[in-house]
Amino acid sequence: MHNKQSAAEIVSALKQLYPAAECSLSYGGEPWKLLVMSILSAQCTDRRVNIIAEELFQKYPTPEALANSDINELERIIKSCGLYKTKAKNIRASCALMVEKYDSTPPDTLEELLKLPGVGRKIANLILGDIYGKPAIVTDTHCMRISKRLGLTAPEDKTPFAIERRLSALIEPAEQSDFCHRLVLFGREYCTARSPRCNECPLISLCERNL
Ligand code: SF4
Repeated sequence: MHNKQSAAEIVSALKQLYPAAECSLSYGGEPWKLLVMSILSAQCTDRRVNIIAEELFQKYPTPEALANSDINELERIIKSCGLYKTKAKNIRASCALMVEKYDSTPPDTLEELLKLPGVGRKIANLILGDIYGKPAIVTDTHCMRISKRLGLTAPEDKTPFAIERRLSALIEPAEQSDFCHRLVLFGREYCTARSPRCNECPLISLCERNL
């Protein structure tokens, strides 16, 4: 397994590969939209969420509008992202809470974020890292798969929380949020779920290949 020093080499190699490290959800710099899109993204691709978001935010341009939306119409718009009934309910409730308690924007602590319906540690950390620039590991499917393959996690790290804790200790706090965005890009280009392109991989010399 990697130590802090070799983990830093991986961080640096990914930084060279993907200097921009942008979030793949196109939320236009509006924090509340990132929160809504993150709820939509459970078991759905970011690409589909970006498509749905166009109609969604055109029809409901503020958290207030979404909080007061017609549930049937909201379900219709988001139906293609799956789990739409639960997501519609959570989006309305989270928007209502943001309007009521947090000045129509997501709160800036893990504890408060976790109180929003539909928000777990993954989404909360995405908001903390992307919106508030705080150290945060987002354990999405790319992060969990690639960290294991590279040898950044230990065999006993089975849950998202265990992986989050391991990576939090290994990756420099200031690098954590961008590192996770870069893993998503890297996971799409090289270290894909089904057929990783190890022969062409720029990280092969740093990888333990725990496939
Ligand atoms: S060498 Fe293979 S398993 Fe390792 S990071 Fe690259 S693509 Fe993934």
